[in-house]
Amino acid sequence: MQLRKVTAASAAVLALALSATACGSGDKDDSGSSGGGKIKIGIKFDQPGLGLKKPDGTYAGFDVDVATYVAKQLGYAPDKIEWVETKSADRENALARGDVKFIAATYSITDERKAKVDFAGPYLLAHQDLLVKTGSDIAKGTDLNGKKLCSVTGSTSAQNVQKSIAPKAQLKELSSYSECIAGLQSGAVDAVTTDDSILAGFASQEQYKGKFKLAGLKLSNENYGVGVKKGDTATVDKINKALEKMVSDGSWQKAVEANFGPADYKNEPAPKIGVIVPNAS
Ligand code: GLU
Repeated sequence: MQLRKVTAASAAVLALALSATACGSGDKDDSGSSGGGKIKIGIKFDQPGLGLKKPDGTYAGFDVDVATYVAKQLGYAPDKIEWVETKSADRENALARGDVKFIAATYSITDERKAKVDFAGPYLLAHQDLLVKTGSDIAKGTDLNGKKLCSVTGSTSAQNVQKSIAPKAQLKELSSYSECIAGLQSGAVDAVTTDDSILAGFASQEQYKGKFKLAGLKLSNENYGVGVKKGDTATVDKINKALEKMVSDGSWQKAVEANFGPADYKNEPAPKIGVIVPNAS
């Protein structure tokens, strides 16, 4: 009966392990504030200068700094933050499911998205642009018609291409900008389009220096907001106060210089909370 005993003991251990997981993971908490006084925040993991998971496992970028500042104002020290990757197409669902408390991931405030999520901010104004190889003759939006263009599923950038910028471009939609950049380098695509802030961050990477150039077009206005779950107006109010403080105490400017300086990205001045710069169409 030796075997039976062992089996019973294993079952007991397994049961214990399962109950420990159920109590401790915080997965059931739909607010994005997991157990142990932690907060889950959505960012990008592959956008240098904005949201980047570095090889040493730490995180850096303007969105990371904004999120860290906001979290602190909400009562969460940096060591209480759990970073979660929220790719462009996943953001609305991540908030609806309560995977994260808020998202700071180059997330433009749009009416379409406002039907599904709420936004604090804006905290940065960027513009859609093109990244091409040095020497490319693509210089304006309409040059893209008939060309292979890469952007990301669920982004305003991909939508704008089809709607207005170059409806006849061969648009390839991938799941992240780093994949598009790899395509530009290999020659699989002729251009990458998204926010100038993002493109400048990639172009300044050591391995791409001198290889790519931004076209310098302001194809849209992208008002970056902090996304929260629809209806969570208390959190929106708190985040707006935090963002105002971040600008007034100089932390916003410091974060801009630290993160955009190396990319030589000329950002717009700090936006006013609640004031969206609209698009032409
Ligand atoms: N800011 C744009 C957007 O929210 C493009 C960048 C992105 O995909 O995160 O869609």
